[in-house]
Amino acid sequence: MYQTTINKKIDCSGIGLHSGKLIDLKLMPADEDTGVVFRVHRPDGIRQIKPNPYAVSATGLATTLSVDGASVSTVEHLLAALRGLEIDNIIIEIRGGEVPIMDGSAASFVLLLKSAGIRRQKSPRKVAKIIRPVSIEQEGKWIKAAPYNGLRINYTIDFTHPAIGVQNMDIEVTPQSFMNRLAKARTFGFLKEVEYLNKSGLALGGSLDNAVVLDDYSVLNQDGLRFPDEFVRHKILDFIGDMAVLGLPLEGYFDVRCSGHGLNNAFLRRLEENRELYMDVVTARLSEAPYPSDSLEIAPELIGQAV
Ligand SMILES: [Zn+2]
Repeated sequence: MYQTTINKKIDCSGIGLHSGKLIDLKLMPADEDTGVVFRVHRPDGIRQIKPNPYAVSATGLATTLSVDGASVSTVEHLLAALRGLEIDNIIIEIRGGEVPIMDGSAASFVLLLKSAGIRRQKSPRKVAKIIRPVSIEQEGKWIKAAPYNGLRINYTIDFTHPAIGVQNMDIEVTPQSFMNRLAKARTFGFLKEVEYLNKSGLALGGSLDNAVVLDDYSVLNQDGLRFPDEFVRHKILDFIGDMAVLGLPLEGYFDVRCSGHGLNNAFLRRLEENRELYMDVVTARLSEAPYPSDSLEIAPELIGQAV
């Protein structure tokens, strides 16, 4: 497989989950071996942030990356869309300190990236493969990884909330399965927490337009859920985005139980600290096959999600 980037620049804007303000976002093509680079506007100029496990500075409400005093928050759904569509090189320019929350899923990003077009470059893709079992466990939550050819995630959540309960999904992640089964799943939160956060001046952009919100008994969104198991699907989306912070596509089989942004990052740091032990960076075999998602249809239900 060759590396990829997008064909042309895309401009968009959307509300920031933290600030509640309108954020400008530009996605731009990048040269081979650039990786994903955030360019963050600050009063003193533009700073570059390259995702890596140690750049994760906060995992409370969303995943935040910080380097040398510059930060960008809520990166996980955009990073998930890039990983899901297998886009290696891109520059993401942001005014406002956070990636817009859009509809709380990755659907808008998928539509924007697909509308720009995805272009194959000349160099082969590099992939980080898990080469021996590695796990992290904390109070009944875990991530257990094992060698696997590709990316497969078996994820279980277990909430006492009557509208969620136990949900499991085992998915082979490909551009097609990502677009059809994961991209549209929205983030979720509990009304009590949303009220508390708002009083503390946090999550000011959070609303029923960009999250599934639950009271003590049920889902409050008028149109209900997009999938009966939307919650576990979103957790897989978050996991893909959080693993993309590694900086290279990670391949392996992941058995995950009740993880979140914090444990995801702790796992990545464990991998990074023991790179040689657990991972092998390999150059993908080249094939002249067209980029797989060139021919992919956007699931009809995704249309209408873009802003
Ligand atoms: Zn999320």
